[in-house]
Order: sequence, then structure tokens, then C-alpha cells
Amino acid sequence: MCGIVGYIGYNDTKDILLNGLEKLEYRGYDSAGIAVLDREDINLFKVKGRIAALRKRVDEKADSTMGIGHTRWATHGEPSAENAHPHQSASGRFAVVHNGVIENYQDLKRDYLDGVTFGSVTDTEVIVQLVEKNAETYGDTAEAFRQTISLLKGSYAIGLIDQEDGDTIYVAKNKSPLLVGLGDGFNVIASDAMATLKETDQYLEIYDHEIVLLNRNFAEVQKLDGTAVNRRPFTAQIDVSDTEKGTYPHFMLKEIDEQPFVMRRIIQEYQDEQDNLKLDQNVRCAMKACDRIYIIAAGTSYHAGLVGKQFLEKMAGIPVEVHVASEFSYNMPLLSENPLFVFISQSGETADSRSVLVKIKEMGHPALTITNVPGSTLSRESDDTLHLHAGPEIAVASTKAYTAQIAVLAILAVDTAQATGLELDFDPMQELAIVANAMEALTDQKETIEELVRDNLGTTRNAFFIGRSTDYFVCLEGALKLKEISYIQAEGFAGGELKHGTIALIEEGTPVIALATQEDVNYAIRRQRTGSCCTGRQ
Ligand code: GLU
Repeated sequence: MCGIVGYIGYNDTKDILLNGLEKLEYRGYDSAGIAVLDREDINLFKVKGRIAALRKRVDEKADSTMGIGHTRWATHGEPSAENAHPHQSASGRFAVVHNGVIENYQDLKRDYLDGVTFGSVTDTEVIVQLVEKNAETYGDTAEAFRQTISLLKGSYAIGLIDQEDGDTIYVAKNKSPLLVGLGDGFNVIASDAMATLKETDQYLEIYDHEIVLLNRNFAEVQKLDGTAVNRRPFTAQIDVSDTEKGTYPHFMLKEIDEQPFVMRRIIQEYQDEQDNLKLDQNVRCAMKACDRIYIIAAGTSYHAGLVGKQFLEKMAGIPVEVHVASEFSYNMPLLSENPLFVFISQSGETADSRSVLVKIKEMGHPALTITNVPGSTLSRESDDTLHLHAGPEIAVASTKAYTAQIAVLAILAVDTAQATGLELDFDPMQELAIVANAMEALTDQKETIEELVRDNLGTTRNAFFIGRSTDYFVCLEGALKLKEISYIQAEGFAGGELKHGTIALIEEGTPVIALATQEDVNYAIRRQRTGSCCTGRQ
């Protein structure tokens, strides 16, 4: 994932764009760039690598009150300064930023852009070259933009500026996230409200296949045929201070330390005044009505889903399948009669999950999203949302959102179990409070952990995590985290599976981290959903 920021107003643009892009770093990127428009020219600054490098490259004298910025995650063409966005049209008149993939870019190149010299090998560049071509034909940028957008197939969030028009940013969206932020005498665009929260907390959703003509004083939302759309803004519920890293050296460490607070916040948010679990009635009805749950997620959220399956099956007695979102669309299993789809996504913008959501909604199935961002696409387009209350997660590698996902899934399982009459032999919120304290005790041991890592993982090229049952699913996440952060090749294995072949890779000095957190891994389903309690732990 990657990001877009744009600004049009009366203040200097560079810092607004660069600060906004920094806030989007959590989405991952390989290169970055900004284009700012001064009275005569579009000034372009692009680098392969970090925003900090881009900041150094930006010319302080490039004075401007409008511009667009981008962090790129390469899909077409290697990560490089040439392929970084913004891309300019052949004459230099237009510049564009784009998130997503233009699936028919080769057809468009062949059919409309024969003879045009391209400066990059990205799919994105066809957009800006087509706008230039259409501007020659139609003599009007808005019409040229509209005509261009109507030719695109695939996913896109787009911001475009025209050197000959210092009053408009041209915006379009399909499948990739993009919001318009509204200010007093200025407007912004951003992939995530977090990027421009310092400027405004008022945001306007853009739906798929809409375009927006963004001026300093208004945002004109239109359908592709030019029909005007009226939409009310919403207030982004994020605290700016949550997006700063304070005295921490990096966000990931801060977010690891925030986990106990997140657990306590979840307890508060999901408990009523009588200390009973508090869940929206619609969610309870959906859980009651379904005969099988299909959890759809990706990466870390998928691993949280695997843990959630244990809770839901064992406590609520509902069969659960957990699917990788990017696979589900291509390999849909046989569905039960009354499925409930549960989407798990920190950002609520995971593109693969969104495409499953669109598909299952067309089929008429109910959807519940568990996310950290209530106004996100998955949240808006699902029937119901359970909020993680984890606060903004900026680090690329998810930590507090992962543990929050597991806690919220546990609450959902317990609540459903109680609704069907299961008497629990524990107080769920008390248990979560213990988890919060235990997290604190662990995060307090950083020095010991650092020592352990130095002694055992310091020079290794690979590592293994093993565990059984729930611990096994946590091992999968542990291995993913180690790979992401340290570039050590790591695998998570079911305790009994390592010996079947993989053990050949374990030699003197290879770290094997065993998770053994469960008192008892030998238990069956505690409750059948038909009503009768089974014998409990065996
Ligand atoms: N497909 C475009 C590229 O490779 C955009 C990638 C992105 O979303 O950052 O440049």
C-alpha cells in the first residue's frame, strides 16, 4: 500500500505535502515524490527511498500554494526515481499521482498514444499522457480528465495538476482509497485522513467512479457523466497527538508499548455500566442468524483471524473458515446457506478484502468489519463494524492492532456464547484486564529481551517458531514479524510438524522459539450451538 496527499490553498505547499507523506509511511513504499505548481512551472522532486531523502531534495525556493505528493509501492516498473510519481506529460504541462493498477494500460498506449515518448515504464504514465492528448482534442482540462478516466480499467486514486490552471486539482477514484479534506480557504486530498489531520478534521468521501474538481474554496464532486453529487462531510475521529511518536525512536516501539492501554480502552468500550458486554444489536442478530462464519483477511489480520476461529468455534459453537482475501476471489469455497462474512483489517482499506466484500455483497450476504478506522471503505460498505479502538497505527508492522483484533474477536465469541446461554467459568473483561497487565509486565522487560535477541538471534540468517493450537497461530505472526522487521528468514510451525522434513534445516545455532502459553491444549469444542453443552474440557 502507498499513499497520496494533495493541497490547494494559500499556504506554502511543500511542508504540508511532505508532512502528510510521512504520516502515510506506515502503508509501506519504495519511492516518493511531490509536484508543486508555482506561477510558471510544475516543480518535480522524486527519490527512490525515504521521505527524509525527498525532504533534502526539495528545493526550498520552490514556492507554491498547490501541489500533489505520492509514496509508491511499485507494481509496474522497478522502484526508481524515474518510475516514482508524480509523472509528467510529454510537454510537461500535466503532472499526476496514482495509487493502484491500470489494468489496460498497454491497450491504451497502443490505441491512443502511439508515438508519445514515455519517461517511465509505469502503468500510471498513460493517465497523464492521455489527459494531454485529450486536452488537445477537447480544449478543456476537466473534459480531458473525464474522458481519460472513463477509459481506465483497474484500480485508481488519482490527483492531477495542470500547469495552465493554478486553481484546480483534478481527482478521481475507483477501488483505491481517497478522501477530500475541507478547510477554510483550502482543500486537501489524502489516502488516509491521518495524513492531513493537522489541516482539517472535515472529510468528504469519494465513491468509486466519481471525480472531484478541487478548488481553494470548494470541492465539486461529480459522477463520470458530469452530474453533480451532493455529499455531507464527516468529522474524522482521530486525535492528532496519537499520530506523533514523541520521545520514541520509532513508531513500532511506541505502538508495542501502547498495547496495555489499548486493551483497557477495549474493556471500557465494550462494557456497559453493569459490567456486561456491550455489542450492537445488529451484530448480535447477525451472529445468531448465521450458520457459518467466513473470516476474510490478509497478512497479520489473517493470523488474528486464525486465533479468532478458535474462540468462535470453541465458545460460540459456530463453524468458522479463515480465508486469505487475495485467494478467496479466485478460489471461492462452497458457501453455507446462511454465511456471515467477517472482514478483519487494521486500516479498513485492504484492497483484496474490499474486492471480496464487493463480490459477496452482490451475492446478498451480510458482512461485519473489524477495523481500527471506522470511516474506512470496508467499514462503510459492511453492514456492521466492530471498532478496535487501538488509535492510529503508523508503523508498517502491525502490533497493537493485531492484539486488539484478537481481543475484539474474543469479545465477539464470548458475547455470542452468552447469548446462547453458555455460563462462563470466567469473567471475560477480568481476563482482558489480566492480559493488559501481563502485556505491561512484558514490555517492561525490554532490556532482558534485547539481551536474549543479541545472544540468540544476532547473526542468524533463519529462525523457527513452534507452538500448538492457538500458540501455533501466534507463531505464524511471530515469524511474519521477524521477517518484516529484521529480514531474517523465519517460519512458524505447528509443534508436531517441524519434524516432517523442515528439521533438516535446523543446525547448531539455529534459533527455535517455542510458544507454550496454554495450560491445556487438549480440549474439544466446549459448546455445540444446538443448545446442549458438551462435556467441556476433556
Ligand atoms: N501502479 C503504479 C506504479 O507502479 C502505482 C503503484 C502505487 O499504487 O503506488 O507506479
